[in-house]
Amino acid sequence: MAVKRGRHFFQNPGPTNIPDRVLRAMDRPTIDFNTPEFLDIREEAHAGLKRIMKTEQIVVTYAATGHGAWHASTVNLFSPGDHVLVPETGYFSINWGAMAKELGLNVEILAGDWRKGVDAAGIEARLRKDTGREIKAVMLVQNETSTGVAHPVADVRAAMDRAGHPALFMVDTISSLASFDFRMDEWKVDLVVGGGQKGLMLPSGLCFTGISRKGLGASQSAQMPRGYWDWRPMLTGEKQTKWPGTAPVHLYYGLQESIRMLEEEGLDQVFLRHHRLGEATRRAVRVWAEGGGPELYPTDPKVESDSVTAVLMPEGHDPEAIRKICMDRFNVSLGGGLGALNGKVFRIGHLGDLNEPMILGTLAAIEMALSLAKVPHKKGGVDAAMEYLAGN
Ligand SMILES: *Cc1c(COP(=O)(O)O)cnc(C)c1O
Repeated sequence: MAVKRGRHFFQNPGPTNIPDRVLRAMDRPTIDFNTPEFLDIREEAHAGLKRIMKTEQIVVTYAATGHGAWHASTVNLFSPGDHVLVPETGYFSINWGAMAKELGLNVEILAGDWRKGVDAAGIEARLRKDTGREIKAVMLVQNETSTGVAHPVADVRAAMDRAGHPALFMVDTISSLASFDFRMDEWKVDLVVGGGQKGLMLPSGLCFTGISRKGLGASQSAQMPRGYWDWRPMLTGEKQTKWPGTAPVHLYYGLQESIRMLEEEGLDQVFLRHHRLGEATRRAVRVWAEGGGPELYPTDPKVESDSVTAVLMPEGHDPEAIRKICMDRFNVSLGGGLGALNGKVFRIGHLGDLNEPMILGTLAAIEMALSLAKVPHKKGGVDAAMEYLAGN
């Protein structure tokens, strides 16, 4: 392996760069998780998570990757054979649905174009047809990390309301929460899936669910075996007081600090920063695309994600070659294509602890790699990004 010097540029869309402040906060001795000291940390962290999710309802955390929150969302809310509707948005929607199916739900995938925003009218039409109220939930991924498309949660909520359908609304926010706008209570989301290692800048291993009172109500009669994920022993009223086993104390140290950082900057400023860095990335890609180069995967500018950009390679060119040059020559790590997009796209993460020079360094490495790999493209992508960042 080549010797790598200088700072490693980690530009995957998850996990993300862990700020030094979070690392330092975790570099502390452990404590008994039944002490008032941990209680204070827990209270602060949960209150902060609720402000970030924009909810006054219930939050439960788990020592697990985001997949754990998917699992928890399924087994607490449903009974075997329950029918759920999953709008197809990309790799993550398919996999959330596949897990629900494996656990015993009747999963209906509503076909969709991965390059476009979710078809809210299609969801409305499907729910209107469901006169017997068989559909128990709609499961939407807000930010499809595989495609770089940000799906309009509020539009889906409005479609459900127009259909007058009582289904639960479940939203995966793993790669959007704390990067761009999400409003659990205003958008009447019943189950929010979240993870620590993307916008919240933590090491992986902490995930959580936001649970509406309607969702908690539905869980009272749900019949699936819940095992590790069971909310009942974890909750005292609406507060989480227990974990199945040892509380993840160090992840809480980190979470407390990352929430402090986000709130010192101000959530709206955090969103604005993500938008600027996302827009700079897109401007660079648009320049490369001229003359038959790599292009933005989303085909509708209204749904371009501010946390990740998927870049579609021209026919006959391998994104893995670009990723390999970036890693081997420039010590820059990019995301690859997932599922059906493997070998077709590479992905640039621009979420979490990130600033202008970091994104410009990344874009410069990619532009050099395009030349080295002899991929057709127009030069000047980085210049377009700089011009945008300097002017906005
Ligand atoms: C990363 C991600 C997941 C999975 O999270 P893990 O922590 O890797 O299990 C699920 N959904 C979305 C949208 C994601 O970006």
